[in-house]
Amino acid sequence: MSDCLFCRIVAGDVPSKKVFEDEATFAFEDVAPRAPTHVLIVPREHVDTIATASDEALVGRVFLTAARVARERGLDSYRLVVNNGPDAGQTVFHLHVHLLGGRTLSWPPG
Ligand code: AMP
Repeated sequence: MSDCLFCRIVAGDVPSKKVFEDEATFAFEDVAPRAPTHVLIVPREHVDTIATASDEALVGRVFLTAARVARERGLDSYRLVVNNGPDAGQTVFHLHVHLLGGRTLSWPPG
C-alpha cells in the first residue's frame, strides 16, 4: 500500500535501520526505542492488524523472525508485543511485532 509507512519502509522508500530481512519478513529499529533493544518485525505483505490477519504461516514467520533477532542479540528475556487497535496503542496499521529487551520489563503493561 503506497500510503502505508511500513510498506514504504519495506520497499526502501522511507529510510530505516534494517536489522534482518527474508522473503516474508522485515525487521528494523524502532525510531523511538522504549528499551535498549526495540526492533519492529513486519510481514513484507501488507496486513492491517492481527485481528484481520488470516495467513497463519505468515504470522508465524513474523514471530519466528522476532525470536531469531532476539537470539542473535543474545537476549534470553524479552517481550513480544502486538498492539491491536487505537485503544491498545496501535498507531501504524501494518501488522508489527515489537521486540523489547535489554532491561527489566514490568508487568502488567500500562
Ligand atoms: P504501534 O504504536 O504499536 O503501532 O507501533 C508503531 C511503532 O512504530 C512505534 O513504536 C513508533 O515509534 C514506530 N515508528 C513510527 N515511525 C517509524 C519509522 N519511520 N521508523 C521506525 N519506527 C517507526
